Amino acid sequence: MVQLRGSLASAILLAMAITVAASPRSYHGYRLVNAVPRSAEDAAELRALATWTGVDMWSRRAAPGATVTFMVAPGAAQRRVLQRLEELGVPYSLGEHDVQSLVEREARDQTRSRALLRDDAGSSVRFDTYMRHGEIEQYLAELAAKYPKLVTLHSVGKSYEGRNMTAIRVSLDGGNAPRAILVDAGIHAREWIAPATALYLINRLVEHADEHQALLQGLDWYILPVVNPDGYEYTHTKVRTDITHHHYLVQTLFLTKYSRTNQIKSSRPNYFITTNKILVPRAKISSVLNLVIWTKRSSGCRFWRKNRGAKRETWLKWLWDLLCEPGADLNRNFGFHWMQSGASSYPCAETFAGKKAFSEVESQNLRDFVLNANKDKRFKMYLTLHSYGPMILYPWGYDYRVEPAPDAKQLADIGNEANAAMVKAGSEPFEVENSAELYPAAGGSDDWAKGEADIAKSYTIELHGGGSQGFDLPASRILTSVQQTFEGLKVFASHAREL
Ligand SMILES: [Zn+2]
Repeated sequence: MVQLRGSLASAILLAMAITVAASPRSYHGYRLVNAVPRSAEDAAELRALATWTGVDMWSRRAAPGATVTFMVAPGAAQRRVLQRLEELGVPYSLGEHDVQSLVEREARDQTRSRALLRDDAGSSVRFDTYMRHGEIEQYLAELAAKYPKLVTLHSVGKSYEGRNMTAIRVSLDGGNAPRAILVDAGIHAREWIAPATALYLINRLVEHADEHQALLQGLDWYILPVVNPDGYEYTHTKVRTDITHHHYLVQTLFLTKYSRTNQIKSSRPNYFITTNKILVPRAKISSVLNLVIWTKRSSGCRFWRKNRGAKRETWLKWLWDLLCEPGADLNRNFGFHWMQSGASSYPCAETFAGKKAFSEVESQNLRDFVLNANKDKRFKMYLTLHSYGPMILYPWGYDYRVEPAPDAKQLADIGNEANAAMVKAGSEPFEVENSAELYPAAGGSDDWAKGEADIAKSYTIELHGGGSQGFDLPASRILTSVQQTFEGLKVFASHAREL
């Protein structure tokens, strides 16, 4: 009987822990660590670090001499990471010690810039704030209604949580141009400047079509501004509650209920006795709560990268969900050399590639849309927008030491020309590189587009970073960034027309 009651107590404890863990998360105590690898071996060690639980590599690059930024969860993860860096002898410095303060600063900026919004000649597009997915959908619908000759919307499908994935086609002659270019953005949730850049491109091509006829002559544009709408919305979720506070509150309530209210004192100071005469070690309760909350906190909202699918179908699902939230890295889920390198089969990892190639509905939708729209092989170029760089990357990305793409030189030349145009517009220079040299990663949409979907030229563009030093480019800098990038997109388009 005592044992049975004991199980009941554990169940209550667990239920309380789950309730607490389900509260909004915060990034209190998360810190940024900047390490500088001295050699290729160091860089490889740092990439290995990135697969640890509680460690999130923010930099795309891990190469000798370049700073690699990690966000590290508080507690054991931070201790282990710093210890590892000491062991390796890799020089490092500690950055922001409380990522939550960055998130809150950014949220205040957003609120401020929203308050300053003006109606811009009847258009609902904004470049002084990051638009939400619903607002983006609404903008696309407005364009379709206002410019029926120029614009057609394509439903690419629904996301895991049922949001629309809508692509816009901009075409002077009803989708019959001899060539087409495909641009997408937001495959990674937290890279907010990417959808904003796609929106600026749409805005220029549609609402300023007169000025940009050259971009539309002989070339149809297909633009999908948000590939991962669930993740994108998740990163916009307000995070205000301090979970640590709840944690102590629940712990106190629990201890009060079982040790104080019942007025049964144990003779052993570190134990207490419940009314059912069960001896419970205080430390055990504390560590169970700590474990549950710490693991839950290791994933997050504003800096969520993956989709919101990849749900686990096992009777241990609830336990998995406590360890980490479900989600796959869509840019590791494409079916070209899937899982060959730079991806993880561990569901909690930031680079979890999914259970199999195209296991995720968003990557399936994009695949089916591309294969269907490109039946006549008109698609000559694919640009997928990410952050942060700035970098222009071309295939192959799936592994080290593979034969370069046969047209690697041409890919690099076009990239360099685009970079020059952006620099001329005031941008800091983009590094133009073969993707795998930088960071081999299989299952990317760029490799798949070139390798499987017959799109000759394919690029990943890592847009401007900012804010704390990465994904949180302040809203006040959106316009400058998208204007500079647009100059590069024009160069890509000029080549797409000639391929
Ligand atoms: Zn990305």
